[in-house]
Amino acid sequence: MKKTAYIIIVLGFINISFSQPHITGTVTLDIEKGFIHCDFTLSNLPKLSKYKILLNHGMNIKYFKNNEDQVISYNGYYDGKTNGEGLEYYFVNEQNEQIELNNKFKIEYSGAYPVYKDSLNGFDFKGYIAINDKTLRATEQSKWYPIIYDVQNDRLLTNYTYKITVNTINKPQSVFLNGTQPKKGIKTLFSSTKSVPLFLFAGDFDFSSTSGNYLINADVSENTAEKIFDNIESIKEYYENLLEINFNDQIYIINHNAVKALKNNDWGFNSYPAFGFSNLDFNELLAENNKFKENHYKFFAHELAHNYFGNNVNSGVLSWFWLEATAEYLSLVVLEDYTNKENVAEYYEYYINTIENKNFIPLANITDNKQIDSEYRYILGPLIFKAFEISFGKEKTIETLKSLLVLSENQKLTINSWEKSATQSGISKEAFIHFKDTFLLHKRFKINITNLITDSYKNKN
Ligand SMILES: [Zn+2]
Repeated sequence: MKKTAYIIIVLGFINISFSQPHITGTVTLDIEKGFIHCDFTLSNLPKLSKYKILLNHGMNIKYFKNNEDQVISYNGYYDGKTNGEGLEYYFVNEQNEQIELNNKFKIEYSGAYPVYKDSLNGFDFKGYIAINDKTLRATEQSKWYPIIYDVQNDRLLTNYTYKITVNTINKPQSVFLNGTQPKKGIKTLFSSTKSVPLFLFAGDFDFSSTSGNYLINADVSENTAEKIFDNIESIKEYYENLLEINFNDQIYIINHNAVKALKNNDWGFNSYPAFGFSNLDFNELLAENNKFKENHYKFFAHELAHNYFGNNVNSGVLSWFWLEATAEYLSLVVLEDYTNKENVAEYYEYYINTIENKNFIPLANITDNKQIDSEYRYILGPLIFKAFEISFGKEKTIETLKSLLVLSENQKLTINSWEKSATQSGISKEAFIHFKDTFLLHKRFKINITNLITDSYKNKN
């Protein structure tokens, strides 16, 4: 008997430490009016004393309630602090002091957003709740649903398992909630036992399926859809072999209209296992041999790399570096095997030229994640990894990335994590410190990086 009791206690403990946050409830959408109403219960939340509940700043909270349906007092409404797209809320006691996060709570709120019909906005990005005459797009970054911010570990809890009913009150509409197949209806239930970021896409659109993968609002023939997914499968397989982590998930590709002018550029973002694209003509993706054109292959290779470097690395002051520099570097690794290497050399050359006159703070001296701007993330970042590759070889570079992925499961990544991963991958501590001094810390670090890459390509020719 004693043994049984012991096992129950141990399992109970495991349940707490691996609790999976879960959301149930109802979302009501009036897309024509730009109206969103949510009535949610969040459960299985971690035990946190330092936390914030983040909700998009356009949402107005009716109340928070506990399990017994009693109203919970909270702060954040008056003189509230923002965190990205959201306002910060937290529960308080009678003395107005922050109290521990409830394991389970209810929240009801509404928001209204502009609908872009004949006009556009000056900007659009993944964190924007974008509504046009056809569709509504809201990703986890917008914080359209409550996101728990773990202050101590600087981590955002964006992924939930869910059981959510979506009402499109006026008429039957298509709805996609991340990780499950899209459906058309007025009142539709969606549920996922796998925790995902809750990317919501709803409105007037078609969708098609190819062996479980979905193309949403893309307007292509079945044959083209199949060919597109053949290419995507080949990138998934490449990453599986390279990083030795399975890529089994079915994926969802969503075409949406941005609410800003994109001119000739296309734009992609990742809410794994969904990918959003804008201004990309899906009928133009394939070359005559049914393979993706080179730039599209690289584009998807970047987005699919976020299957590995995604929300798991989205914490700490270097979060943008770990998120985007890795994905961009990996997309060039993929491309190197897909196409001839000279083309990839051209990419590196182009990146080097792009930042020729720009100054950056050495990576090891970054103190605020805002210091890593988009050129740092997408251009300098992959060059830093290329410098690492030239210094230690591709194999050890990939081993280091694999080791960083393991660390990212339960900690934020830092330069120390990089050093730890490098030494685990057979790079000596001294060699890493030399790399760090030259390429991550030196005041001429950018020149050191670009010279190393330029010289290495020169030597090959
Ligand atoms: Zn990216």
